[in-house]
Amino acid sequence: MGLERPDGPTEAKKAQCEDKGTYTYCTGEGMPVVVGAPDLYGQVIEYSPEMVCAGDLDIRICEEAMHALLLAISVWGNYGPLEYYITGIDEDAGQALVDFYCERRAERNGHRLSDCVQKQQEWGMGLENARFNNEKHLESNSTGGAVLDWETRQLNILQFTAGLPWGLDESYLGPKPTTTGYGAQKTVFHEYFHGIQQSALTSPNGAARDSKAPPRWFTEGSAEYMAQLETHRQRANGNLTLTEIGGQGDYDFHFWMRIYLQLSKQTFARCGGFIADSGWGDKCDDYFAAYGAGAWAIAYLTNRYGEDSLLEVLYPVIEEKGFEGAFLHTFEMTVEEFYVEFENFFALPETEQMAILPQ
Ligand SMILES: [Zn+2]
Repeated sequence: MGLERPDGPTEAKKAQCEDKGTYTYCTGEGMPVVVGAPDLYGQVIEYSPEMVCAGDLDIRICEEAMHALLLAISVWGNYGPLEYYITGIDEDAGQALVDFYCERRAERNGHRLSDCVQKQQEWGMGLENARFNNEKHLESNSTGGAVLDWETRQLNILQFTAGLPWGLDESYLGPKPTTTGYGAQKTVFHEYFHGIQQSALTSPNGAARDSKAPPRWFTEGSAEYMAQLETHRQRANGNLTLTEIGGQGDYDFHFWMRIYLQLSKQTFARCGGFIADSGWGDKCDDYFAAYGAGAWAIAYLTNRYGEDSLLEVLYPVIEEKGFEGAFLHTFEMTVEEFYVEFENFFALPETEQMAILPQ
């Protein structure tokens, strides 16, 4: 048991998207689609991820997001089976997405259609709420994110429900855009990394998974750092580009890491704590503490123990050892010892901190 790893990176498959009238459906070219709901958690699979986008979105948004997802898979390995839903703004298109999703659940998981539809319409993490949030975000010109639904372990899938990736379509961005197409692609990498984290804890029992799961700073920090670093590289080597409708504009790994450093320092000064206090509801519960300082914690650890230490060493043993044990096994210190060491690093001058980042 434990997370299975591929032999190495593969060539990214091409995104193949089809306009189905009321929604857009994408798979990877030449990849088979899973039949039924086999339990393949933790295994490297051959099946294509499936992306379904609301019908009111330009098909190029779906193509770009799918391209990013297939690229992430080619770098980190293919886990799933994976379903990635991207919501839009239009209500009828939102309903068509709910219908697709629930027919899928009836077919593959034997769910009752009416129960599924009701849940997707009313639940805080459902598809309708994600659509509604897009509507609100459009008015306030802020950015939306995506979530991996941890409950979908029971469905034997990795399921993502995403807000509109505004950056992939410039027409949604105002005169002073707060996001770019590259930022939206980074979000897809971030979410997919969560998919791998989830694949590493295969127990069907939620409490058993929770007891082995890392704290928020580690989960978010590793997803964010790995996504920032990998999309930085993929842009540099020309694999990650934008279509003509993508929101151009700068997106720079070092710039963001500097922002994360400065703003998380501000947060810690204000809350009087450190990354250990950045969980939900804790005294330093905020984005920059969990994601920003978390990303720096991973930058620090991977600088010392290698970039492969997460995917090749820690996640493959987390099921067996739990987070604390897997951390000790990988980084040769306890989490508590790390907090002390990392707090010392956080007190260094910024130039010394920035110097540990890969170019
Ligand atoms: Zn996340």
